[in-house]
Amino acid sequence: MQYYSLNNQSPVVSFSQATIQGQAPDKGLYFPTSIPQLPVGFIDNIKNLSKEEIGFSVMKPYVSGEIPDSVLQQIVAETINFDFPLVKIDDQISSLELFHGPTLAFKDVGARFMSRCLGYFSRNNNAKVTVLVATSGDTGGAVANGFLGVVGVEVVILYPSGKVSPVQEMQLTRLGKNIHALEINGTFDDCQAMVKNAFVDEELTRKVNLTSANSINVARWLPQQLYYFYAYQQWQFQDAPVVCVPSGNFGNICAGILAYVSGLPIKQFIAACNSNDAVPSYLRTGVYQSKDAVATISNAMDVGNPSNFVRIMQLFSNSHLELLEKLTAYSISDPITSLTIREVYRDFKYMLDPHGAVAYYALHNYLQTHENSKGLFLETAHPVKFPDVVERETNVKLAIPEQVQYLLKQPKQSILMDANYEQLKEWLIANC
Ligand SMILES: *Cc1c(COP(=O)(O)O)cnc(C)c1O
Repeated sequence: MQYYSLNNQSPVVSFSQATIQGQAPDKGLYFPTSIPQLPVGFIDNIKNLSKEEIGFSVMKPYVSGEIPDSVLQQIVAETINFDFPLVKIDDQISSLELFHGPTLAFKDVGARFMSRCLGYFSRNNNAKVTVLVATSGDTGGAVANGFLGVVGVEVVILYPSGKVSPVQEMQLTRLGKNIHALEINGTFDDCQAMVKNAFVDEELTRKVNLTSANSINVARWLPQQLYYFYAYQQWQFQDAPVVCVPSGNFGNICAGILAYVSGLPIKQFIAACNSNDAVPSYLRTGVYQSKDAVATISNAMDVGNPSNFVRIMQLFSNSHLELLEKLTAYSISDPITSLTIREVYRDFKYMLDPHGAVAYYALHNYLQTHENSKGLFLETAHPVKFPDVVERETNVKLAIPEQVQYLLKQPKQSILMDANYEQLKEWLIANC
């Protein structure tokens, strides 16, 4: 498979080049030159296939020629070595739980796949690669865990001091080895601005081999298709599901749409957003306007200008009309999100995290006017990662899950730094 830049001003590249570069030189997102179609009979037979078999078949066309089958099988097996249960909440709505991985969030899937691909591609290369990310909480943990111990890769994570939850902070600061947590005296926006500066600083990038690990990177984006297949495997109704995805940068839902274009039956997509409503506005008006991000309780979705939206447009031939037929979008406020956590716990004893709550409410809303449909939403993080709001709304004290208990015994290691780019630059040159 080859990949081209959606800005059309850069050469076509291979999967490994797209993975190593992250973004194209013309600042465009890489996109596959063709969308592979599922083999005939694949969907009819899907219930007889293992997660590993599905993962291998779906990913193979995207990496073909660059990762030998046996290595890809291994990478896929390590990527998806936890459960993806579809849990019924009521007659119409099920929850696809994506929080059973090592850092309790769906980003584990993309981070694990990408880290192993990067490890494979740099196996004979003595030049060290530095993965640089800013996190508001969730991305950083998944990236840290995914890359832990990968030879030849240093990971540097900037996070806003005092603004991530205790479990999130443990996941960033207690791994050690090749994972470095920079605790920034500032906001998430400060962290992101410092990282953006670093990527465009030629003096720095001459000295340090920097790459990013967000959903712009094809190796993080593409494997996110897999759990849409695992959901379909567990789907018990004749009619295809309505699928609702809590969306920020729109990488996750875009992977689902890609799976659909390849042949996976999905009746309708719903993008569930918080108050950051660039996409819902676009669907309503036909005019796309990026906005400044506003802070919400579902903070992993506080994105004003979703990067992956251009990929979604490409999948619908850049047609507003085609998009409207398949995608519905809602913007859900914080008070409704909190109330949803409270009511779903009260009525069904099901505990939502704020991101899942945004999605639950959007799906519920849609199904009220589509009574014959049934749907599932993606529960993207474990509620314990957002204890303040969840404990307040449910009156339940959340216990630290088994997957992260081992971190309690490790010491915190973070490097305190002001929100000052020159300090970051000096540190990177000295340490990477
Ligand atoms: C990152 C994240 C999202 C948003 O996913 P996108 O691919 O950016 O749309 C939703 N929920 C949680 C918990 C996340 O960490």
